[in-house]
Amino acid sequence: MQQYVDSYYSASRNRDRAHPPLTESVECDVCVVGAGYTGLSTAIALLEQGFKVIVIEAARIGFGASGRNGGQIVNSYSRDIDVIERTAGSHAASVLGPMAFEGGRIIRERVARYGIQCDLKDGGVFAAITPRQLGHLQAQKQLWERYGNDRLELLDARRIREVVGSERYVGGLLDMSGGHIHPLNLALGEAEAVCSLGGTIHEQTPATKIERGAQPLVHTPHGQVRANFVVIAGNAYLGDLVPELAAKSMPCGTQVIATEPLSDELAHSLLPQDYCVEDCNYLLDYYRLSADKRLIYGGGVVYGARDPADIESIIRPKMLRTFPQLRQVKIDYAWTGNFLLTLSRLPQVGRLGDNIYYSQGCSGHGVTYTHLAGKVLAEALRGQAERFDVLAGLPHYPFPGGRLLRVPFTALGAAYYQLRDRLGV
Ligand SMILES: Cc1cc2nc3c(=O)[nH]c(=O)nc-3n(C[C@H](O)[C@H](O)[C@H](O)COP(=O)(O)OP(=O)(O)OC[C@H]3O[C@@H](n4cnc5c(N)ncnc54)[C@H](O)[C@@H]3O)c2cc1C
Repeated sequence: MQQYVDSYYSASRNRDRAHPPLTESVECDVCVVGAGYTGLSTAIALLEQGFKVIVIEAARIGFGASGRNGGQIVNSYSRDIDVIERTAGSHAASVLGPMAFEGGRIIRERVARYGIQCDLKDGGVFAAITPRQLGHLQAQKQLWERYGNDRLELLDARRIREVVGSERYVGGLLDMSGGHIHPLNLALGEAEAVCSLGGTIHEQTPATKIERGAQPLVHTPHGQVRANFVVIAGNAYLGDLVPELAAKSMPCGTQVIATEPLSDELAHSLLPQDYCVEDCNYLLDYYRLSADKRLIYGGGVVYGARDPADIESIIRPKMLRTFPQLRQVKIDYAWTGNFLLTLSRLPQVGRLGDNIYYSQGCSGHGVTYTHLAGKVLAEALRGQAERFDVLAGLPHYPFPGGRLLRVPFTALGAAYYQLRDRLGV
């Protein structure tokens, strides 16, 4: 059986039931491919509406980004809403703006309704390293308030030191509708909700081929699923199963470390209110405390998603730049995971033919978006496609350089933005 990477999350995962591989031919209303947040959230929303749902997962529940991420409930999309206003128009922005804050509410509703134990905490900080970044946060605050988020506080240089024990920041934005979770335990709890609603999950069951038609047929190594609809939720781990979906997106890796448990005093000095933090750099750092007071610190991007050999040597210096006081602290876990980048950084949502739906490519900020996506996909399958159509209408472009050169070209672009961050322009 495929194992999780050496992640703190797999070491602290809640117990869950067995989900044996598919070994027969079965039928259902909807076959969901992939048991990350997108697939599980879609399955829950459909099951709550009475659909018969089967989820097939190539590896294990939460094996992809959903079981490895920073655990930060970050509102909005990987692109600011004003960029959506400019590129997709005012109608798209008026629909997608308020939706930017829905994913966090869906997570909290599910945690409460299904009794999911995932260490949910409220409060997330966007930390500005330069005055330019702080100015941007100020503008974002006004924009987010316009779209209904009234739980924001702009932090000046003095105030941010009360919530983050680092000298790095000139200010920040606190979003009390953000927060953090144990990501794998959220996925496992959602899988349990799927089963409690009558859904079925098969782990170790990769979709190897999808035969399209009036009732698509999903092939797996030892069985097949005939369904009225298929939802593809394989994101950065999908490979070439559906070539159309691979064309305008690129898997990327990002790495995370977890320290040994910190003393109460040290943990409190870093993050006194236990908020999570991400900075505003183009290639950003993100961190938070776990329930047992480890610092979970992530950052960096590997375009093309090759696994780096020594993760600690990449991430530990970033952590020490933010918290030099952790110099003597040991790193217990280090792992990598893949997210799916699009050129616009906006998610890719759509339909292939009449009955194959997909959502992918949330470009690094997907914990809330994927929960929203599940709800919107379920609405579309029920025939209410207004919100789905707006997401599906977002513009997408192939990466410059095609599949051969997209990695060096994108890395070059990122180097430019990194330089801007360093220069503060
Ligand atoms: C290290 C890391 C840190 C991150 N931190 C944050 C964060 O703090 N906050 C935030 O908002 N976002 C974060 N993200 C992004 C976020 O985790 C993802 O956007 C989100 O989890 C994607 O969920 P998903 O369900 O679409 O994809 P995944 O969770 O990747 O799930 C896809 C699943 O599909 C399965 N699959 C693929 N192909 C097949 C197939 N052919 N048949 C069957 N199953 C298949 C895979 O095995 C996998 O389990 C992070 C991502 C990474 C990698």
